[in-house]
Amino acid sequence: MIGITSYGAYIPKLRLERTAIFQAMGWFAPALMMVADGERAMCNWDEDAVTMAVAASRDCLTGMDKRQVQGLFLASTTLPFADRQNAGIVATALNLPDAILASDFTASQKAGTSALLTALESAQGGARRNILVAAADRRETRPASFYEMWYGDGAAALMVGDRDVIAEFKGSYTVSYDFVEHYRAAGRHFDYTWEERWARDEGYGKIIPEAVSGLLQKLGLTMADVDHLVFPCVFQAEHRNIAKKLGAGPEKVADNMHAVCGETGTAHSLLMLVRTLETARPGDRIVMAGFGQGCNALCFEVTDAIADLPPRIAVSGYLARKKTTGNYTRWLKFRNLIQPEMGIRAEAPAQTAMTALWRKRKMLLGLVGGICRQCGTPQFPKMDICVNPECGAHHTQDDYEFAGRPARIKTFTGDLLAVSVDPPHKYGMVQFEDGGRLMADFTDCDFEELQVGLPVQMVFRRRTEDEQRGFVNYFWKATPAPGAAEEMKRISFAGRVAIVTGAGAGLGRAYALELARRGAKVVVNDLGGARDGSGAGSSTPADQVVEEIQAAGGEAVANYDNVATPEGGERIVRAALEAFGRLDILVNNAGILRDKSLIKMEPENWHAVLDVHLHGAYRVTRPAMAAMRDGGFGRILLTTSAAGLYGNFGQTNYAAAKMALVGLMNSLKLEGQKHNIKVNTIAPLAASRLTEDVMPPELFERAQPEYVVPMALYLCSEACDRSGAIFNAGMGYFSRAAVMTGPPVQLGGDDTVPTVEDIADHWERINDLRGAKELADLNAATVDLMTPVQKPSSAAAGAEAKPAAAEGGVDVQAIFDGLAGTFKAEAAQGVDVVFQFLISGSGGGEWSCTIRDQTCSVANGRHDKPTCTLKMAAGDFGAMIGGRLPPMQAFTSGKLKIEGDIMKSQLIEKLFKIG
Ligand code: NAD
Repeated sequence: MIGITSYGAYIPKLRLERTAIFQAMGWFAPALMMVADGERAMCNWDEDAVTMAVAASRDCLTGMDKRQVQGLFLASTTLPFADRQNAGIVATALNLPDAILASDFTASQKAGTSALLTALESAQGGARRNILVAAADRRETRPASFYEMWYGDGAAALMVGDRDVIAEFKGSYTVSYDFVEHYRAAGRHFDYTWEERWARDEGYGKIIPEAVSGLLQKLGLTMADVDHLVFPCVFQAEHRNIAKKLGAGPEKVADNMHAVCGETGTAHSLLMLVRTLETARPGDRIVMAGFGQGCNALCFEVTDAIADLPPRIAVSGYLARKKTTGNYTRWLKFRNLIQPEMGIRAEAPAQTAMTALWRKRKMLLGLVGGICRQCGTPQFPKMDICVNPECGAHHTQDDYEFAGRPARIKTFTGDLLAVSVDPPHKYGMVQFEDGGRLMADFTDCDFEELQVGLPVQMVFRRRTEDEQRGFVNYFWKATPAPGAAEEMKRISFAGRVAIVTGAGAGLGRAYALELARRGAKVVVNDLGGARDGSGAGSSTPADQVVEEIQAAGGEAVANYDNVATPEGGERIVRAALEAFGRLDILVNNAGILRDKSLIKMEPENWHAVLDVHLHGAYRVTRPAMAAMRDGGFGRILLTTSAAGLYGNFGQTNYAAAKMALVGLMNSLKLEGQKHNIKVNTIAPLAASRLTEDVMPPELFERAQPEYVVPMALYLCSEACDRSGAIFNAGMGYFSRAAVMTGPPVQLGGDDTVPTVEDIADHWERINDLRGAKELADLNAATVDLMTPVQKPSSAAAGAEAKPAAAEGGVDVQAIFDGLAGTFKAEAAQGVDVVFQFLISGSGGGEWSCTIRDQTCSVANGRHDKPTCTLKMAAGDFGAMIGGRLPPMQAFTSGKLKIEGDIMKSQLIEKLFKIG
């Protein structure tokens, strides 16, 4: 049986929105609007027909033995060389055997199907087995033409052979006419096209039906016997008409891919065929046609072997891997349709020594390095001596292909000085996972995407072009592996062990499921009692969640202990240590409700609620803390509530317990600090049995626990380096809540005790939270209390003293009072500095600001050992802090003078929210 044995495709990652063409050129060619829908595939600047053919062929060769390939036919009308075997470049890049027939098929849009047909007939004749047919085109079009809209870049590849045939070749019918609806004279860049109406009516509309009907007649078939009809036609309406003329309903006609890709020239029939094969079922009959100075029609029947074809990217995969751009000038530059100044560096000689290219062809075109026969170390380039210092063997290198090996970025840079069509020029060291490394350019990515450790894949691309001599230099580049950046950003809990209390239902269940989904091993604790904590309890809720986790492939054990008892707390932690050997995460989540107003609140209801929430957290956290300390890592999450943070009628017991947890956190964060144990608190809002009778039904519907999970899990992750903070989370809304302290007001004299009347007189000022700060701990609070803004003068007694405003309306004291509130603790990891400020002019004074252990404290006066001293006038300081005077400008203009470590002073912008 002869036929297709494998398929592959390639569509460049870049897509140009057609509306962008219209937006840029519609003023000149308003009719473009008629076709300005969807997007067209667009080569990167370093792609052409040869590179795309290599990519499609690699896809087609997935799971195949390359040594069996005996021929490579390359079809294109946009080949980079008019007299150099382009198929030979592709064959060398693919490391195909030397003893193959490599041949170019060109000069007509039907060259793709001609190459396929020739390969099939050659296999039929028995001359050769396994012929790889690749077709690719990157056609140039004039700006603002319909063809710029209609065309797209792409490639397809098909393997033809007699073993494991997935689509059997049933026959063909060809007509050849010198019908010239367009042509491109030798050496010309653009096509010359005749009137579209004529091309449509006399060309596509007559010649394709003639060939397809001829084929059906030859095979004794009718359109009813055909499942898929595949033929190209840029004219959307005519595409439908031709099908109709041939008696094929829309369900049989393959989409011409106008909306998603555009017409890819000689590759297009093959690309559409590949797309059809991706979803075809055994027994399906496919008729395909290629159009261009006549028409080739071919018939295939899909076999059972199609189900065994190894997965590949193919058309669907490449259509999904895309980056859409609306940057039309970028398109123009990439196509060389505008010639911006490239600078004199671009004039550097680029001649290729053919001698070196011949000698090093495997290395340069095939990315072939060496592997030591003695120690197995791969290296690039291949050399006489093994790079392994422990081996160092001579002449032990075998060929080793690097192109398909997994690799990661080891170093990278974005060079704005180097010549690049798509600056910055991105390059760096690529480390192959099995060994070997090389300096490579990065392509198909933005600089921002690059990061050390990012998985990359090697792709064959144009490296340089010697315009003077008309020579293109190819080499391999690295591109981020699809989805790798997202995967690197993914917050994982692999290797972590977590306890979630009260995980049999509601929020706890949702936390446990997601923790397990992200790799954590979970102890699912739940007593299984009633909403108010009464009853004997049940193992069912915890067991069910464990089953769910295990069914999804995760690891979990159930625990039914009561968090509120000392034995319960111990046993819950022991369950983690016994089952999984360590403990990293504790989510104190178990909870009950017993709502009553205080007068009706009998002691049993008071104690029951405090027992579960407050004492429960203590009972479990205590042994957990010891286990985390031993492990050198810990994340503890406490669960508070808006009822505690802000108050709620009828919940004094619950509110007291929930707010007590905030106190627990405030101190525990300090105790956990040196053991890398972070403690935070979540105030959730979610639909559960606790809220079913308090939440309005429409809110209840929307408030699914899953919306709280991201915050809870983030606070439990390694990524979170915050400790001692409270976060509200519900329905996709997140905010931080904090205890804030207003600026202190000192009353009375140095030797006089303030009076009750003093309080009454300064009531508003004491209440004023302007310039309020979040204070790190009791010490910071004590220092703060004793650092008053300004002692109200006796003259001001009886009237509210207003905060002093310095010159230019700047209240410098207020700025320093508020400075700690603008501190970005997350940016201060590892920072240990003291900034001394000397502010001159009215309202000025001396303040020091100490940043240590991710906390910020501001004090009046001079520090003994400031890291750097900043001197400014009050007005300029106000402008700088207000964001109106950029620090750099203040410095260069002399308004800001810095003594000491100038470099450290630059941290100010990073550490504080300015403006
Ligand atoms: P829920 O009733 O659905 O879940 C609480 C779970 O804790 C139950 O499965 C219960 O069996 C378990 N539990 C109760 N007492 C226990 C004990 N002594 N030992 C072990 N397990 C016990 O409620 P939920 O809404 O998911 O609440 C989870 C936590 O979130 C609670 O601490 C609650 O106070 C808090 N909270 C919830 C909301 C909300 O809107 N749902 C708002 C604020 C705070």
